[in-house]
Amino acid sequence: MNAAPTNDPRSSPLDEDENLHARRLSQLGVTVLLALGTGSLIALVRQDWRTLGFMAAALLLVGASLALTRRRRIQPAALLMLWTLAVIATLAMWTNQGIYSPALLVYPVVLVIGSMLVRRGQLLALLVFMALCLGGMTWLTETGRHQFELSPPTYGVLAYVLTILGAFSAAILLLAGDLRRALARVRTEVQRVQESSEQLRYLAEHDQLTGLPNRRLGSLLFEQAIGTARRNGTLLAVMFVDLDNFKSINDSFGHSIGDDFLRQAAERLRAAVRSSDTVFRQGGDEFLILLPDVRDAAAVSAAATHVLAGMCRPYTVREITVSSSCSIGVAMFPGESHDFETLVKKADLAMHHAKDAGRNAIRFFDEAMNADMVEDLMLGTGLAQALEKNELSLHFQPQLDLASGRLLGAEALLRWQHPELGWIPPARFIALAERSGLIVEIGQWVIDQACRQLRAWADAGLGHLVLSINVSTIQFKRGTIDLVVNQALDRHGINPASLELEVTESALIHDAETFVATLARLKSLGVGLSIDDFGTGYSNLSYLQRFEVDKLKIDQSFVRRLSQSEPDQAIVRAIVQMAKSLKLQTTGEGIEDQATAALLRELGCDQGQGYLFSRPLPLAQFERFAREHPRAAGTMQAGSASPTPA
Ligand code: C2E
Ligand code: MG
Ligand code: MG
Repeated sequence: MNAAPTNDPRSSPLDEDENLHARRLSQLGVTVLLALGTGSLIALVRQDWRTLGFMAAALLLVGASLALTRRRRIQPAALLMLWTLAVIATLAMWTNQGIYSPALLVYPVVLVIGSMLVRRGQLLALLVFMALCLGGMTWLTETGRHQFELSPPTYGVLAYVLTILGAFSAAILLLAGDLRRALARVRTEVQRVQESSEQLRYLAEHDQLTGLPNRRLGSLLFEQAIGTARRNGTLLAVMFVDLDNFKSINDSFGHSIGDDFLRQAAERLRAAVRSSDTVFRQGGDEFLILLPDVRDAAAVSAAATHVLAGMCRPYTVREITVSSSCSIGVAMFPGESHDFETLVKKADLAMHHAKDAGRNAIRFFDEAMNADMVEDLMLGTGLAQALEKNELSLHFQPQLDLASGRLLGAEALLRWQHPELGWIPPARFIALAERSGLIVEIGQWVIDQACRQLRAWADAGLGHLVLSINVSTIQFKRGTIDLVVNQALDRHGINPASLELEVTESALIHDAETFVATLARLKSLGVGLSIDDFGTGYSNLSYLQRFEVDKLKIDQSFVRRLSQSEPDQAIVRAIVQMAKSLKLQTTGEGIEDQATAALLRELGCDQGQGYLFSRPLPLAQFERFAREHPRAAGTMQAGSASPTPA
């Protein structure tokens, strides 16, 4: 049969509906055929020829309806069957007891089946037809125009009634089954929609990697928590937790281990707080902890210390042991703000202060941090234009041979003349330029400016001066500094031996491939390399040879106290001896008096730099200094040039 339901997964819901209707119509058709067959038999037994005639006509028409159904002409088939039943029932009533005839039972059957299979207008037409027939028969009886013969119930009549009821029950059973199934389908559908909307909400409010709530849910929970804190008169704290070395774990072991590490860190954070506290993932290696209902800052401090201790234990990620720590910033309600975003911002700022303090630390937000940030912002925007506006310049601090006092060269030190804030020391803006990346552009300018100056001095007959410039680690990370230096040397026709690069010890720890390769290329150009502020950072001495360092600049902190401090003398002596055995030069930085200069000379230090000889000088003054000072062996004439701010 065409109308058979299809299990084809590609069939649309409309096809399924049509299939179901076709199937039901054929089943109803067969039921009606059976009922009519039974009715015909009863009529035959009762020798009720008229009824038999109606039944036969009905059998034919219902058969035709079945044939239409097979051809998938469902609506005409349904209408044909319903009208056949209605008309045959009416004829049966007309010839048999009028509206008291058991054939009246067929009307409700037709209406129930019709309500499932045909349109509302067609059903209404059937109802109107039935009402008119019943009304007509009643009117004819009432007006005496027709008299229906009423006979007492017989077994024959009972048989008709039972046949009709049987067919009716079968039809109702089929249709009720359809209804139940449709209801069940709707229920499953509703459940599915509910489940998927819950799933969607979960995804929107949780971090996929760690399963922790995300910032969005965080701000919702914050609103609730702030309400409770207001009612109870308690405090609320937001902790900003940043993992200290996630980037290097990710870079060294790959992202998959990095992800596992983050999951473990999230788990540890969750375990380190009270059940009423909530841990969120802010993004990357940053987490937020919301601590509602806290008594005082001491309780928050204790909680933060507990978190810090928990995060410090080594992690085992797929059999690799990694050590890590975290930095925590804290901001509190109502002291710092009533608003989630502001509290998070302030906790973030405090966290950066914890990082600057050497990491693995906790800092509570205070207004001074805010003032620093505002100034940083102002300087940051100003710095971006400083180069264009010609606000940067180089000052030069002479470097002398300690034994002979002759001038060897100078260190170029950056100066920024801000139009409103006046002179800004490099200590204030270099770190800022490093954070924003601007140091690359500024550093490039310094390199070019230094080479231009060396050219000018050579042209002016100032002889062989070595100029050292400070280079930031960030410039190395770009991996192009050797190109920049090479181009500047070429552009100004400079002997590479006249240029010296100063890097800090901390730069040498960044043993990344690009750093090593870049340093090697720089050395191959022929420029000098010195380690600035030597003795203050992490000294893995093997680097000194690996990177072919030429000179160590002994940090000012040892030099300053040299004449009064035995331990400092011991350190400087050790540095100088080690340098000598590695065939490296040494420079004492920050020499302010003759006694220190004499001691350094005695300890075997080669070169000196400091206020004793000269402060960093603007160009014209340095040139005067250079002209007045012997560059061959001779006596030292300190302090002949006027100082500049240092
Ligand atoms: P640094 O390279 O160690 O430079 C030496 C600093 O010590 C200079 O400070 C200098 O003025 C100061 N100084 C020299 N002699 C004495 C002395 O006898 N007594 C005292 N108390 N101080 C002395 P300045 O110019 O403020 O520079 C500070 C730091 O800024 C530099 O330290 C360097 O690390 C950085 N810097 C300066 N210019 C540049 C640059 O062009 N690029 C980069 N990346 N950093 C730079
Ligand atoms: Mg320096
Ligand atoms: Mg230094």
